[in-house]
Amino acid sequence: MEIIVGKNTGFCSGVRKAISGTQEVLEHNKKIFCLGEIIHNPSVVASLKRRGMVFVDDISEVPEGATFIIRSHGLPSDIINSAVKRRLHIHDFTCPKVKKIHRLAIELTEKGYAIIIIGNTSHPEVKAILSLTRGNARVVEKTEDLDSFPPEHQYAVVVQTTFNPLSFSDIVREVVLRAKNTVVYNTLCEETVKRQRKALTLAEEVDFIVVVGGKNSSNTKTLCSIVENKVPVIHVEGADELEKKMFNGVQKVGIISGASTPEEEVQKVRSTILGLFGYTS
Ligand code: SF4
Repeated sequence: MEIIVGKNTGFCSGVRKAISGTQEVLEHNKKIFCLGEIIHNPSVVASLKRRGMVFVDDISEVPEGATFIIRSHGLPSDIINSAVKRRLHIHDFTCPKVKKIHRLAIELTEKGYAIIIIGNTSHPEVKAILSLTRGNARVVEKTEDLDSFPPEHQYAVVVQTTFNPLSFSDIVREVVLRAKNTVVYNTLCEETVKRQRKALTLAEEVDFIVVVGGKNSSNTKTLCSIVENKVPVIHVEGADELEKKMFNGVQKVGIISGASTPEEEVQKVRSTILGLFGYTS
């Protein structure tokens, strides 16, 4: 059994910054709050909870004047306004790449474009971008969503940072065919795209791939869908989900991870697979 850990595993720069910033805030505060999980990774979330981080589903659950973290996906403007009204001490860890899309959404709205946000309707990043467009944007997840669109002469397109690049280009092709004066901003995260390219290269070298990452992490799910066209894949959140029978007949295993998976979890998966076959790392 040979195991190859892919290049570009572990946290992306945006998640690394949000996690290290949050840990620093926790050093000075016994209790801090975050709307939704800070990243889609159960082990990191559990460890931050032990240190005093509280995850809530609604901003009204955060006590007035408390310390509040904005995670790397960003937050819709109405929620930020409520946080300000509640006099929360806000630490904004929205990823700079996501902030760039926010600025673009505001600028395009001011210029009067009809905006298309290509992304997953329920994703927090998409909800935050949508909130900045004063009702001038629609979210498109798949080409069929365009069927109900009125013909516009000026569409501007942006895309969720972690969206599947192939689906993005399919949708863009359809938009351009329907509205010739379309302006397209490729706002895919280059770190994510690079990770996907490396994953595809690894898929050529191995006969099985383990993808490590949160089950509801958008970029992890995209990684799975990209490599599963090449080799059999399993998606696990952690090493404890691995069983020997999953590797029946496998000679060479590749390990890749989503952008919100700590490098330690990737290494744990590697040593667990070795352990299942009686090797030590
Ligand atoms: Fe930022 Fe890209 Fe990481 Fe998202 S995946 S947090 S855009 S670096």
